[in-house]
Amino acid sequence: MAGIYIHIPFCRKACHYCNFHFSTSLGKAEAVQASIIKEISLRSSELNEEVQTIYFGGGTPSILDPEAIDKILQAIKAHYAISSYPEITLEANPDDITTEKARAWKQMGINRFSIGVQSFADKNLQWMNRAHNASQSIQCIQTIREAGFENFSIDLIYGTPGQTQEGWIKDLEKAIEMKIPHLSCYALTVEEGTALHHMIGSGKKEKISPDEQAERFEALVQLSSHAGYSHYEISNLALPGKESKHNSAYWEGKPYLGFGPSAHSFSGTKRSWNIADNLQYIQSIETGILPSEEETLREIDQLNEYIMTSLRSIKGMQKETIKTRWGNDKLQIISTEIDQFIQSGKIMATENAWVLSGQGRFFADGIASSLFFLEE
Ligand code: SF4
Repeated sequence: MAGIYIHIPFCRKACHYCNFHFSTSLGKAEAVQASIIKEISLRSSELNEEVQTIYFGGGTPSILDPEAIDKILQAIKAHYAISSYPEITLEANPDDITTEKARAWKQMGINRFSIGVQSFADKNLQWMNRAHNASQSIQCIQTIREAGFENFSIDLIYGTPGQTQEGWIKDLEKAIEMKIPHLSCYALTVEEGTALHHMIGSGKKEKISPDEQAERFEALVQLSSHAGYSHYEISNLALPGKESKHNSAYWEGKPYLGFGPSAHSFSGTKRSWNIADNLQYIQSIETGILPSEEETLREIDQLNEYIMTSLRSIKGMQKETIKTRWGNDKLQIISTEIDQFIQSGKIMATENAWVLSGQGRFFADGIASSLFFLEE
């Protein structure tokens, strides 16, 4: 089982907190699309497994005409073995979703959306510099439902400057009231080089408070479980059967190919990434050269990745997996190191696995990095 990711590096506006690779000029959109199709054919021998998930991310894939997405999809189908019922997700922003586009996406086989709602409060969307408002978010959900889509996710951000606990609870209650099948909820991180980083540095926006973010996370845990969501990964919650297959495969260490500027690929032992520059990407692909770098993951890097991703998931770190793949010595070292987190109530030990407790989940990344191995 494998996945395919396509990075569409264009957005209508630059959100103030975002450090992904994108351009707000659509001038090179056609050339990037043509290059992605060429990259798909250049790399057609790289994957011998059946593709079960395809994910259009970015950037904002919904900014392109549906025909452009369809051409990329056709190229993927022409060069790779696709399973009978693949999950095909398109990231979309509320201001792009129209009845016409929704019909076209459905016709070409898109069967899941990830919608960049971020908040249902206009004042949050305004400082973020989002291209949509709250009423467009509500309307677009109705539009995709009317077009027959039942499988979709929305992104929400918490712990943002100026967001109160009441404001966050209102966002969650709105999502729950609308019975959104899948929620991706992210604690805001302030990345260097973003407009938000500059605003906080110059005092125009207040600093992010980790304590307040923990409080928001606690509300997320409480409200979502009460509403029947499974909190199957730290940032991801789903109503029964609506988990993201594509993202779950990432967390389970399954291989995937990434096409487009800045897209990453993973073979199980090697990771590669395309250049994060649209013009250089186009020029390189034109000459038949893949504009990518790669690294081979050492055994220890693979173990560290497993610790990070498995701790974030509801299944936790499986003792048998560690023993089989990395040996009993490593299992014993982890057993000793993890004891402090069991004592403090952040990790629960079952017979087969170590799983973060409700209180430990907010600290997942810190706990994982303290368990990392530095040397073979
Ligand atoms: S729409 Fe998404 S990718 Fe584009 S700038 Fe905003 S957060 Fe970043």
